[in-house]
Amino acid sequence: MIAVESLRKTYGDFPAVVGSTFAVDRGEIFGVVGPNGAGKTTTLKMIAGLVDPTAGSATVAGFDASDPEMRRSLGFLPEESPLYEDMTARSYLHFFADLYDVPDDVATERIEDTLDRLELDHRDRRLGDVSKGMKRKVAIARSLVNDPDVLIYDEPASGLDPLTTNYVLEFVRELSDAGKTVLFSAHNLYHVESVCDRVAIMNQGEIVARGTVPEIREEYGTTDYRVFTSVALDDTEPAGDRYAVTVESMADVEEVRDRVTARGGEVVDIRTREPSLEEIFLELAETTGTGPRGES
Ligand code: ATP
Repeated sequence: MIAVESLRKTYGDFPAVVGSTFAVDRGEIFGVVGPNGAGKTTTLKMIAGLVDPTAGSATVAGFDASDPEMRRSLGFLPEESPLYEDMTARSYLHFFADLYDVPDDVATERIEDTLDRLELDHRDRRLGDVSKGMKRKVAIARSLVNDPDVLIYDEPASGLDPLTTNYVLEFVRELSDAGKTVLFSAHNLYHVESVCDRVAIMNQGEIVARGTVPEIREEYGTTDYRVFTSVALDDTEPAGDRYAVTVESMADVEEVRDRVTARGGEVVDIRTREPSLEEIFLELAETTGTGPRGES
């Protein structure tokens, strides 16, 4: 549904995006994460046909990003989406449905259905007078007026409270369950981890890791083992009525076992702790440097 090949954007001689390549399949949720200035917005805008790439190509639903026909298959949510403050949610969405030549009766049904699913009240209140969360929901509803197959959302939950954030992310999941393809960028790695099928981690304009979260974990993360023992060792700490030490490999676990046995005790429990995407991300940002202009 989305195919990106060696996509590159240079501003002057500054490389904002360096040769991104990835594909997003139908019905998939693909997350692009990275620190400020990593190149996420530039990548998304190139795919949405809003920024011309310096090199490489992007296609959406089989159309080149520069092909105006592509827009019919795409719903784009910009990071900042100022709305027409004097319009109401309903009138604003009908205005956009008109721009897409959606027949009135279809538009009414689609808009009311989307607003129901987003649980948006106050549909006839002036947009200048509604909350930030509601504005974001209206912007999301706007991305759906043309019933596109592909959605590109730049920081959909940015600046929202935790409840509304969860709401938006659950809605993204519903869209994908309904067969939509979703590409979105985010800062909050926890949410990306919980909602995305696959993830690309960007840093300094480059994709530094890509795959499902378990794949990324396997390639870039180290699993910790928390070993609980019945007797104290030099490196254990008290843990309730027993002792515990954290080690990084199974060989280390066996070494702890040997030492415990030598003291007449035993290993009573071993728990594995997988690194979160956040920990991997921080590690990768450290090894590759953060922010091309030191923005983060
Ligand atoms: P954020 O998380 O802060 O939104 P981002 O990952 O989306 O960051 P981009 O907005 O894509 O990053 O910017 C990538 C780099 O390109 C930044 O260093 C930015 O300053 C630079 N950049 C973006 N747009 C332009 C422009 N129009 N002219 C010059 N430089 C730009």
